[in-house]
Amino acid sequence: MAELRDLYQDIILEHSKRPRNYRALEAANHKAEGFNPLCGDHFTVYLDVAENGEIRDVSFQGSGCAISKASASMMTQAVKGKRTEEAQKLFEKFHHVVTGKNGSEAEDLGKLAAFAGVSEYPVRVKCATLAWHALRAALEGGKQAAVSTE
Ligand code: ZN
Repeated sequence: MAELRDLYQDIILEHSKRPRNYRALEAANHKAEGFNPLCGDHFTVYLDVAENGEIRDVSFQGSGCAISKASASMMTQAVKGKRTEEAQKLFEKFHHVVTGKNGSEAEDLGKLAAFAGVSEYPVRVKCATLAWHALRAALEGGKQAAVSTE
């Protein structure tokens, strides 16, 4: 079970128990629902994006497994204050690392590198990327978008 300990690192467990930015966002001008039918993870991601493309505020609500919830929580912290194109690039790197496509990009991820162990568990990849897919759908789809991992 050593590998499972790798997957559920302290920082992931901590964020799953006490998720950050866990609330609806009244001022949201972008919003998307993400659903992972394989696991039952279901979140809504809210964004307040300024005219210059800066993500002024971001939050999420919903329910899901420890991995999906921790990932959503850490995502909100990682993209807050960033420009939308920086957030998209961060998602690309995160996706490469959790799918095992390019583990070396973990260096650029900061705390998000804690999810690198997910690449050993293909089923969990969808949990770890759900909030990010919803983020992208919200940025591209505007006020009310939806995305499913299936
Ligand atoms: Zn899940």
